[in-house]
Amino acid sequence: MTKKTKELNNWVGEKLCKKVVAALNNNRFKAEYCENSLAAKKRALELAAGATTVGFGGSRTITDIELVDELVANGATILNHGNPELSPEEKMALMKQQQTCSVFFSSANAITLDGAIVNIDGVGNRVSAMIFGPEKVIIVAGRNKLVDGDICDAIKRIKTFACPPNTYRLGKKTPCAETGICVNCNSPERICNVTTILEKCPRATDIYVLVVNEEMGF
Ligand code: SF4
Repeated sequence: MTKKTKELNNWVGEKLCKKVVAALNNNRFKAEYCENSLAAKKRALELAAGATTVGFGGSRTITDIELVDELVANGATILNHGNPELSPEEKMALMKQQQTCSVFFSSANAITLDGAIVNIDGVGNRVSAMIFGPEKVIIVAGRNKLVDGDICDAIKRIKTFACPPNTYRLGKKTPCAETGICVNCNSPERICNVTTILEKCPRATDIYVLVVNEEMGF
């Protein structure tokens, strides 16, 4: 990609991200614009300062900005059920602890330009913690998650760009993990079991949304 193309992509990305930030704030989320993933990491760590327990919802975006070392250095206990060495019981225990942690980190699968946050989960632990329980929820979302359309368009984005790579990554036995295409399967290992739409910020939850002018996660 040439420097000029990158500059133009960033220009349009900034316009879109700032439009979404305004819409999210109008929906009572605490949304902020970040010009890139480094700025998002810095702000995420500031927002998580003082956290004693930090939960991770299983997000490539959050993994990629590498928060763990700094959080641990700041005294936080990390609740991450993504470690493949965990037993099913240990994994379940961590997912339950995440529901009442100090700070819960996740990305969003899609955010519409009018500020609705849409997610699809297999178990529901991630979307549950995003809605109620943790003292603070911090969502980091790259510009590739923004959808110029309605909730159906947001779900379409998720089924096209988020779920197939997730099933492939997780080694699930689903059609999309083979072909990369959703066929609305009935597989026992289907990861699309719960769809949540946060239209306005839930009353008892402090939700920060960092909208980043960079492609992050999927
Ligand atoms: S419904 Fe099934 S095929 Fe479609 S994305 Fe979800 S797991 Fe994959």
